[in-house]
Order: sequence, then C-alpha cells, then structure tokens
Amino acid sequence: MATTLPTPTRQNSMFGSHLSVAGGMELAVREAVRLGLDCVQVFTKNQQQWAAPPLRSEAIAAWKESLREAGWEGGPARVASHASYLINLAAAPGELRDKSLALMREEVDRCEVLGIPILVFHPGAHTVSTREEGVGRIAQACIKIINETPGYKTTLCLENVAGAGSTIGRTFEELADLRARIVAGTGQPGRIGFCIDTCHAHAAGYDCSSREKAEGVIKQLGVVLGFENIRCLHLNDSIGAMGSRKDRHEHIGEGTIGLGGFAAFVNEPAFAGLPKMLETEKGETAGGESFDAMNVDRLRSMIGTRALPALTPIVSGAPEAKPAAKVAKPAKADKKPTGKPARRKPAMDSKPKGG
Ligand SMILES: [Zn+2]
Ligand SMILES: [Zn+2]
Repeated sequence: MATTLPTPTRQNSMFGSHLSVAGGMELAVREAVRLGLDCVQVFTKNQQQWAAPPLRSEAIAAWKESLREAGWEGGPARVASHASYLINLAAAPGELRDKSLALMREEVDRCEVLGIPILVFHPGAHTVSTREEGVGRIAQACIKIINETPGYKTTLCLENVAGAGSTIGRTFEELADLRARIVAGTGQPGRIGFCIDTCHAHAAGYDCSSREKAEGVIKQLGVVLGFENIRCLHLNDSIGAMGSRKDRHEHIGEGTIGLGGFAAFVNEPAFAGLPKMLETEKGETAGGESFDAMNVDRLRSMIGTRALPALTPIVSGAPEAKPAAKVAKPAKADKKPTGKPARRKPAMDSKPKGG
C-alpha cells in the first residue's frame, strides 16, 4: 500500500448516488452528470425480480456511449452496480440457493459486459442454519462464481450490513473472515473486496456520531479489512439509533450520525479516490433543487476544514396533503397531480422485508 496518500480535496474526491435506470441504464449516467456528480450506482436489472431479460446490444452500446460522453471511461472506478436483494448466498441447499447463485452469476456477467468494475452485494442471511454454516455457504458461492469467470475485471464487494435478524456481515471481522476464505479458495484477491455503508455500520454498533468517533471506526476499517480492499463507500445517515440494527437511511447530517461523522469519512485520505455513493431519499425541494445535489454539497463542503456547514433540513417540494376537493374526479387518463400526500420514496437498502 502506498505510504503517501493524497489529502482529500474537492477535485480528487468522488461523490455520486444510486440512480434509477428506468428508461435505460444510460439515463442514470446522464442524470449523474446533470446533478454534478462524479460517479453513479445502478441496478443492471429489476432488483425485485428473479428473471433477467438478456441485455440487448443496443442497451450495452447506449450505456458505453453515456460513459464516453461523461468522460468516465478509464481512470478510477466511477460506476458500481448493486446486486438484487433477492439473492441470499447463505441459503441452504435447495431452490433458493440455486436461484441465488444463478442470479449472482447473472449480475457478475452483466457487470463484465457493461464494464462495471464494482458489484456490491449483501453477504446473506443464515436463517435456520447456524452462522458458521451461512458464512461457509457464502464463501463457497463466491469461490464458485469467481473460479467460473476467469479473467473478469468486476470485483465482488461484500457490503457490511446493519445486522437485523440472521444477516451476516455486521461486524468487520465477519467480513474479513469471508474475504479471507474466498481469497483462499480462488487465489484471486483482486476479485473480492468491500463496500462500507456508514448507516449500516452505525446501526450495527460502530459509533460514527462525531468526527472523533468516526475516525476511530475508520481506523478499525483499515486494521481489520485493509484500506486497499475497500473499493466503494455508501454514505448514508441513519434514522435508527447507534446499535439499533435498523437499516433506514436518512439525508446526510439529519440522522443519528450527523455531519461530524461524515466529516471524518470525506477527509480520510484512503477514501478520497473511492466512489462514495448516496442511497438516500430522492426528490426535489419546492425550489427545484435535487436532494442528491444538496447531500453531495454538504459532503463536499466539509473537505479540508473542521467547520461544519449550517444545516437546513431537506424538505420535499411535492404538494402537501390537502383536503380532497369535492369536484369532479379526474378522468382515468388524467396524469395531473392527484393532491395525494407526497409519499417519501423509500431510500435504498430500506428493505420492506426483514432479511
Ligand atoms: Zn448501502
Ligand atoms: Zn446495499
């Protein structure tokens, strides 16, 4: 590992967001550029479905063209894919395990075809099996997939989780153990890395609620996982309390982590060149400002300073609930706003079901 890492600056630091691929994956890259982001995370297929229609050559070409337009080809990794939440590599032998392995392989293949260097996935949940059995199954699944895809450039990145239910990967030690087993079974350390989610770490019991505390957590990350193996960060504040094991994301600075914790992450030299993705609520203020752009502004403003920005909570500009007007119902085809209360779009990883 290099002994001198560059001090983070606004120029060398990379911030992005998980964006929608509705209408075409290339639209996520264009939207990221429009918002002034440096990187983007996507799903390469509908993440709520097992079925994955094959990627059409036109879609692949459009995606690659959008990367060219953005100037994101070559150079540091600027694109990550998040694997489907349906996948459970810790599942016991049977249909769920077969489907999980097949879909994980499909996710890896898609990343390779699309030139996406980072595939983030949740390790899995051992459910009725023992934790040790679950860890062993995840390792075996990754070893099989990596060994069946020689020469692939995509790195599988184990994401730390908040630790609800029987999920695996709450502690840094558990993640390190998983990676060590996979490296031992493949001999390919470059194919398996980590993605660290700040919300998940904090909810898992790694206190990130001040700059000093978060610096301590970052130190542990370096010691236990090795900074060189961390390929991507998810920067999300947390709705749940520290140690709550609740996976609920909040806008940067507005949750139980607060701005101080994020100041530590954005000023860590080992993280400057990594893609740092938001997985927070999407939307716009009444003034038309994007929530993602506002969250990234907060992060950028803390680079190179100990001062924290003033925080005005992000408020949706979507129409508030109003008493239903007792007028004629709009025709079915009418696409005008309905006056329904603005529902908060769920943030990433705020899973509807327990794992
Ligand atoms: Zn995440
Ligand atoms: Zn995730």
